[in-house]
This record gives sequence, structure tokens and C-alpha cells, in this order.
Amino acid sequence: MIDVAIRFDDPSAISDHALERAILHAMDRHAVCATFAVVPHAGQQALSAGSVPHLIEARRAGRLEIAQHGFCHESSRPDASLPSEFSGLDGAAQTEKITAGRTALEQVFGVAISGFVPPFNTFDQVTASILSEQGFLYLSAGSEHGLVESGHLAQLPRTCQITELRRALSEARRRPNGDLAVIAVMHHYDLQESGLAGAALTLQDLSELLQWLRQQPDVRLNTLSQLAARHDARTWHKAVQRNRWVQRRHWRIRSVFPRYGLMPHALFKYVRLTGIST
Ligand SMILES: [Zn+2]
Repeated sequence: MIDVAIRFDDPSAISDHALERAILHAMDRHAVCATFAVVPHAGQQALSAGSVPHLIEARRAGRLEIAQHGFCHESSRPDASLPSEFSGLDGAAQTEKITAGRTALEQVFGVAISGFVPPFNTFDQVTASILSEQGFLYLSAGSEHGLVESGHLAQLPRTCQITELRRALSEARRRPNGDLAVIAVMHHYDLQESGLAGAALTLQDLSELLQWLRQQPDVRLNTLSQLAARHDARTWHKAVQRNRWVQRRHWRIRSVFPRYGLMPHALFKYVRLTGIST
């Protein structure tokens, strides 16, 4: 079985709501549920119920799960080569941002928020410890930026971009002995309708991709919290460890293992089989 979760980053009070409505329409048409990582306080504008009615309505309809995308999505160290809103800040400063952002989202959406997606996919152990203490279920960032050692917090790093989803499934099918988890990240700028040059997909492409996804008999679609619940945090921890181990090997070894998926089971199950057409 291939577990797929789609994470859509950056909706906020000031994001492109017309595009988000169109994405939600495509999701609705093909009965796809995704996780939206929402910024609580973008561009000095706090989220309010009046600012994101389309997201509130879609969540009520069961079309999406809300995760917390940091606090204001600004780097606390703008001069560093790797931007981060959290990494490097002390515990008090991180706690304040996490708590303020979570409270804002819970007030607007009227649900408990259990998932955290740090902006720029960067965090540190302090971030992970606070999330664990505060009862978050999962942290979804980038596996290259750290390994979580914290209690019951499941680490579910993005494993590919939405544009790589078909490749990720094709690759997973070459490893029929091991279940894989694929976490595909999407941004507004992936869509040509965002107006940004170089976008790879049109809304029509996205709609076709979602339709195709729903037609795959070996794919189970999850929100990130559903995915987190499929294994305990220890198993996800080991899965991230395996990915990090593979990423550091010589390319010949790397090429044997999946590039776009997390491996919850023993590594030998994921060695590529040859001669299977996909
Ligand atoms: Zn972001």
C-alpha cells in the first residue's frame, strides 16, 4: 500500500483566495482531502473568521485538515543562508509564537490543531520539544533539517513536490514488499493561475492529477494526522532515520532506495526490483 498525503502550504488572511477556492473545487470534484498549513499572522494581518470563510467552509465539509504553519512566516535570522522562523530562538520565544499561532487558528476554525509545519521546513530540537510538550501529534518539515527525538511527536517530512507525485508512485511500485508514505507539498506558485512565471501546473493539470490519484487501487489518501496515526512516533522516527541514512550514501546506493517516499519498515524491503514495468 502506498500512503499519500498532500500538504498545501501558505494559505493565510492575505494569500490568493480565488486560487485556493479553485483548488478546493478540484479537491471537491475528486473527493480529495488534503492538509492545509495555514499561516496565523501573515503580513501583520491576524487571521479572522471573516478573512478565510472558504477555508472554514471546506474544513466543515471535511475537505481539508488545518495545520499550523508557524506564526508569521518571517525568518528570525534574515541574514542566515538557511531561513527559519524558529530554529535558533530560545524556548520562551518559540513557545510564545507556537502558542499564539495555535490559539488564533483554533479560534478561527473551532477545532483543536494537532499538526505543525514550520515555515521554510526548518526547526530545531527546542521546537520539537515544545510541540511534544504541547501535545501536537505531528511535525511536518524537511528531513534534511533535523531528526526529532521527542516523545509522541511523529515526524512526517515532505518527501516530494506535488509535481513529482506520479514519479513517486511509480518509484514506490518498484518496491512492492514495503509500504511507503509519500508526502507531497504544494504551493500557490506551483500553479500557473497564481500568475507566477515558471509554474509547472495548471488548475486543469491539478484536477487531472487528483482524479488519477483517486483511481490508483494501491494508493490510500490521508491527511497528515491520519498518516501520523498509521504508526507510532518511534516507527516514524526510524523511517526518517532511514531516509537520512540513504541520502548520505553514494549515489549508487541511493539509487537502489526510494527517493520520494518515507520507509516505515526495514530497509531491505525497499531495495528496487528490476524488470517491473511501471
Ligand atoms: Zn510556507
